[in-house]
Amino acid sequence: MAKLPEQDDLLAYKYEIPSTEWTDTPVHLKPGMFCYGAKGRNLETVDFPNARDWSPSEEDWKLPENWKEIILEGMAERLKKYRSFKLFMDVCVRCGACADKCHFYMGSGDPKNMPVLRAELLRSVYRRYFTTSGKLFGPLAGARELTEEVIKEWWYYFYQCTECRRCSVFCPYGIDQAEITIFGRELLNLLGLNTDWISGPVANCYKKGNHLGLEPQAIMDNIEFMLDDIETITGKRIEPSFNRKGAEILFVAPSGDLFAEPGIYTCMGYLMLFEQLGLDYTMSTYASEGGNFGFFTSNEMAKRLNAKIYAEAKRLGVKWILGGECGHMWRVINQYMDTWNGPADFLEVPVSPVTGTRFDNARSTKMVHITEFTADLIYHGKLKLDPSRNDHLKVTFHDSCNTSRAMGILEEPRYIINK
Ligand code: SF4
Ligand code: SF4
Repeated sequence: MAKLPEQDDLLAYKYEIPSTEWTDTPVHLKPGMFCYGAKGRNLETVDFPNARDWSPSEEDWKLPENWKEIILEGMAERLKKYRSFKLFMDVCVRCGACADKCHFYMGSGDPKNMPVLRAELLRSVYRRYFTTSGKLFGPLAGARELTEEVIKEWWYYFYQCTECRRCSVFCPYGIDQAEITIFGRELLNLLGLNTDWISGPVANCYKKGNHLGLEPQAIMDNIEFMLDDIETITGKRIEPSFNRKGAEILFVAPSGDLFAEPGIYTCMGYLMLFEQLGLDYTMSTYASEGGNFGFFTSNEMAKRLNAKIYAEAKRLGVKWILGGECGHMWRVINQYMDTWNGPADFLEVPVSPVTGTRFDNARSTKMVHITEFTADLIYHGKLKLDPSRNDHLKVTFHDSCNTSRAMGILEEPRYIINK
């Protein structure tokens, strides 16, 4: 276990104008603000380059000899492939509207955690090597050389963004900092620079189908434990369904819900709801992860990890897919899955078997979010609820970053809570 700083050390920051230009402020990796470096074996599992053990606290990050060439080639390739990358590199007017919207800036006081400056870490290199003004005028045009120090700065700050998109909501140009962060991380991963907190779950998910590395029998055993608890409380034994061909619905949850508190309480809720409705569903012990840590790594990795959902839906012959709650899971499903791994033309547009509601919003993905499904049940009076049982509770609701900002699911959870 790393020696962590005390709370007072972490809170000792001020929102002051820095005494040096950001380009002249050396990167200082503050203990408690970064994760361990990706382990070699985890990168090897997914065939990522420069797999080796390394530590961000050491001077030598064991980069390949031609690291600069790799990064510049990687940037050129992505600028050609992704219009969004080129656009986001060019259009920022540095209005600062996003500056105080990032929780990492608010919680650290570090100007390089302002979304506008986090992006500038990458833009400055883009200008130097890919724009005429940057090549001719260098720093005068906001350009700077790519050095090892810059790579360390990228690693430190791009892994301090949670890709939540809060800042992009306030940007008049709609610049999506989460996408800029992904591009920054894609480039870093070309040099084998990830964090182990991400690369470990990615390797697990690639090998076993879920971030936690749960084997199929462990998933079924865990759910049996939950069913024991449900039986103790309700007196009713639920029969779950796993890997059943011909079920109407495939249900996919994040693996945290299958493993430990508090996720297991959510899972117990799913199981009781489906039992009460008599839903014709099944869960796959192979597509046992809806969440996607590949999304915190690169577009390609997110696509590879997501592919199993449609593959299992096809193998099991279901009609449509119902998904549990998880922010990064739904950003990938709602915005990328159909393009990456579809078209899912072997599935049907989801229709609730209980209310008959056709979820046209999911006509392309064929996947419905559990809160949409549940709000629809309540709206049609299909669940007998007794709100007075919760009268003693005072609750507040925190919008999940991606389901709210990437999907627009804002009203459904509030509707459910208010009922
Ligand atoms: S709000 Fe948008 S345009 Fe303004 S500084 Fe931030 S990213 Fe740039
Ligand atoms: S996407 Fe979220 S974490 Fe990243 S810079 Fe914007 S507000 Fe901060």
